[in-house]
Amino acid sequence: MSTKRGVGRPKKAAHSETDAESPPSYPVFRCGMKDCMAELHNLSFLQTHCLKIHIPYSLTCQWEGCDDQTPRPAAAMWRHTREKHIKPIAWQLGDGPAAPSSGELPSIQTTLEDLLGSRA
Ligand SMILES: [Zn+2]
Ligand SMILES: [Zn+2]
Repeated sequence: MSTKRGVGRPKKAAHSETDAESPPSYPVFRCGMKDCMAELHNLSFLQTHCLKIHIPYSLTCQWEGCDDQTPRPAAAMWRHTREKHIKPIAWQLGDGPAAPSSGELPSIQTTLEDLLGSRA
């Protein structure tokens, strides 16, 4: 029998901190780029996602609601994205759980160098 929930919520302290928007047990690192619904498992996935999927293909910042539409080269775009958009997420959620399997993910540094090296 489970009639504990659904029938009126238990009244307790006036200012209970439960019931508010308590975060889910695991954080979701959502990509904020326009028209992108990607949800990543941790910060490093999110960074790599942005680096690979968005940064090389956008001249201006595509982050939803970003009012800085200065055209930038990839390196500067990445710096902007990381500082303005990814960092706040990191502050809020932390690094997130470690990647399930190591070695599968190219390191951010490698990806970035790749990116920058391509415009020799
Ligand atoms: Zn994305
Ligand atoms: Zn931006």
